[in-house]
Amino acid sequence: MPTFVMAEKCDGCKGQDKTACMYICPNDLMKLDKEKGKAFNQDPQMCWECLCCVKICPQQAMDVRGYADFVPMGASCVPMRGSEDIMWTVTFRDGTMKRFKFPIRTTPEGEADPNGGFATHDDLNSQLLSTEPEALGVELWTLKK
Ligand code: SF4
Ligand code: SF4
Repeated sequence: MPTFVMAEKCDGCKGQDKTACMYICPNDLMKLDKEKGKAFNQDPQMCWECLCCVKICPQQAMDVRGYADFVPMGASCVPMRGSEDIMWTVTFRDGTMKRFKFPIRTTPEGEADPNGGFATHDDLNSQLLSTEPEALGVELWTLKK
């Protein structure tokens, strides 16, 4: 089920032109209703449930009812971000609540090394992936024709 805004919690990111959920959605689904000061998902069918908007919302106003491979059907999942971890509060249909805390990546924005420090090659005809063979950590051999 797509994410959705809990209107009673959303403050429209205090009237900014671009709200946090609009900024982060890779599919440009989130919109701000300026009159009401509330955000909404303009096309829920196109939501691929990446949960970025859920995690970035400063008001915890984005909710998601996860599929059964994530939580039992119908459970609600709300995260709280810290500087070192993220804590998910899962509320089950019978009202039971559980909290799960996970460490998060602390690499500053824009500082991630896309190649993980491995040497790359740019031979598009190679059967090796960009950081191979170094990233494989093994010695490779090739057949000579
Ligand atoms: S990020 Fe949260 S508070 Fe801000 S507009 Fe979106 S739903 Fe509302
Ligand atoms: S879950 Fe992802 S795709 Fe769906 S509205 Fe939020 S940010 Fe966009």
